Amino acid sequence: MGSLIARALSKYELKVLVIEKGDDVAVGTTRANTGIVHAGYNAPVGSNKARMNVRGNALFDNLAAELHIDFKRIGDFVVATSDSELKTIEELLERGKKNGVPNLEIIDREKILALEPNLTPKTKAALFAPTGGEVDPIGLAIAAMENAVLNGVKLKLLTEVNGFVKENNKIVAVKTNRGVFYTDWVVNAAGLYADRIMKLAGIESKFEIRPRKGEYIILDPAYQPVRSILFPTPTEISKGILVTTTMFGNVMVGPTSVLIDDKEDKSTTESGLKEVETGGKKLIPSLDMRYAIKEFAGLRADGNAGTKNDRYGSMVKRDFIMEVPSSIVKGFVNLAGIESPGLASSPAIAEWVVEALKENGLKMKKKKSFNPERIPVPPFAKLSKEEQAKLIEKDPRFGKIVCRCENVTEGEIVRAIHAPVPALSYDAIKRRLHIGMGRCQGAFDTPRVIEILSRELGIPPVKVRKDGTKTEFLLRGTKEVEDERN
Ligand SMILES: Cc1cc2nc3c(=O)[nH]c(=O)nc-3n(C[C@H](O)[C@H](O)[C@H](O)COP(=O)(O)OP(=O)(O)OC[C@H]3O[C@@H](n4cnc5c(N)ncnc54)[C@H](O)[C@@H]3O)c2cc1C
Repeated sequence: MGSLIARALSKYELKVLVIEKGDDVAVGTTRANTGIVHAGYNAPVGSNKARMNVRGNALFDNLAAELHIDFKRIGDFVVATSDSELKTIEELLERGKKNGVPNLEIIDREKILALEPNLTPKTKAALFAPTGGEVDPIGLAIAAMENAVLNGVKLKLLTEVNGFVKENNKIVAVKTNRGVFYTDWVVNAAGLYADRIMKLAGIESKFEIRPRKGEYIILDPAYQPVRSILFPTPTEISKGILVTTTMFGNVMVGPTSVLIDDKEDKSTTESGLKEVETGGKKLIPSLDMRYAIKEFAGLRADGNAGTKNDRYGSMVKRDFIMEVPSSIVKGFVNLAGIESPGLASSPAIAEWVVEALKENGLKMKKKKSFNPERIPVPPFAKLSKEEQAKLIEKDPRFGKIVCRCENVTEGEIVRAIHAPVPALSYDAIKRRLHIGMGRCQGAFDTPRVIEILSRELGIPPVKVRKDGTKTEFLLRGTKEVEDERN
């Protein structure tokens, strides 16, 4: 959300600052989700979720072309395996049509089984949404923020909002652990913590966000039991455990849907992973979990809007909160409860923020110099021999391979550390260059990347972090241990 809103605002003559408490963008919920650009048939008719999802989905082709990110509009299927599920997919078809989802259709058993022969023999039919797609959410967030920064947005990482300064009930400044920033407008896009920010801004309400955990299992790319995005028939709470291809060529199974209390608990659990396996096998009975290579969990920002008797009580249950609550506090745009389909909706929500600011009196003059394109630098390994030689001649660091499995060079790592959205930790570099993702899983490159990060950031090696703010790799130098022994 933050990246796309920043990019949308960078089209105007405005001074925009993004305040992010993490050491990178896409370190909250955006980091761990299914990455599906939903078509828009799930959300209740008339809800913000429905409007934003359908509009957001339509904006993705242009967005992906401008940012040069991978986006595959491969379509998705909801599989019905009983008469009652058949009724549900017919309802979804009707709901989707009312929401404005184009070209939805129910396809028969023979057709879906011909496309996906490993589907359960219980399959009766499937809802097909040709506009469903897949995107790499982390790549999208980094690309959008990079484009925003190149168009004049300032990004402050490792900076946490902890209060507001108000005058006559209008926000005039944001308080953080790294100083106070004066401003006319604040946009709350704090994900799981949006309820905390609302309270800091003075919106006293019974609205709260609880994390809803979703656990996943990723399978080895050598094993391809499905070709598309396969959902089971959804329940009221969740879209269910799906089996899907990913942008990276793996098949992914998940997520579970369990309300928890700790907004930082991204652990996987034995019961959760069992549920993922059982759920996956309901769709694909032959699913061979011996191909599992990774498990992870993400946290949905599950809000209770529409369920309590306060200002959100009249909303559709668990809808996105999108408001400019100027009768309570001025200068505040509030986005909260942005759970799924938040990724698919994000370009539309960014568009909505621009309109909301205009309607509330902010002068928005188009910036002539805005450049919508973000041209990614191709990986060194994909360049021709001549291009590689030229680059090495200009900067010999491109001649030093640091990650042997993925063929990533020192030059690329240094470039990522000093990029418009800087990579400040090992995992931030991994997210951009895929170091440590090959056979050795980082055993070879990690010490060398620590050295490079230490040198480029001007910090001692013991301060180099794997990820986040508190995950240093090293405890102390070996010499110090020897000194202690003596
Ligand atoms: C299991 C799962 C599956 C999902 N699948 C899909 C899907 O397939 N398709 C889809 O459309 N959506 C999906 N979603 C939903 C989607 O991932 C989210 O809606 C989206 O990523 C939310 O983005 P966001 O920017 O609002 O939140 P976040 O990515 O969490 O960003 C909020 C940011 O605010 C920062 N922050 C918080 N508090 C402060 C503070 N005090 N000061 C400074 N910074 C702060 C955080 O560090 C974070 O970086 C899924 C979610 C989950 C968990």
